[in-house]
Amino acid sequence: MRDGIPADVERQVCARDKCCIYCGTEFVNPPVTRGASPSWEHIVNDASHVTLHNIALCCVSCNASNGIKSLQDWSQSAYCGRRHISLHSLAKVAQSTLLRTQTAGVADRTP
Ligand SMILES: [Zn+2]
Repeated sequence: MRDGIPADVERQVCARDKCCIYCGTEFVNPPVTRGASPSWEHIVNDASHVTLHNIALCCVSCNASNGIKSLQDWSQSAYCGRRHISLHSLAKVAQSTLLRTQTAGVADRTP
């Protein structure tokens, strides 16, 4: 368990996310650059929301750039512009979580 992420969620996320969910950088071992290492990401910034829908792997570069911004705000940033990241280019899990929060107002909290 790390950062309060249950072991089964961690295992399934690792099996699912072989690339950064934002920029698509493939995770290889060892990483091509430090920035291309995988890191744990809450798609919606809510540390209590640790489900498969909200926990994902993104590269260190995206994680550092994203910070505490919402995906909507972050996708407008210069970093995303340079890397051609938009809300429509995100991995499916990020898009569906985003859609869920937009329609429900808050993230689905059911496990
Ligand atoms: Zn990335």
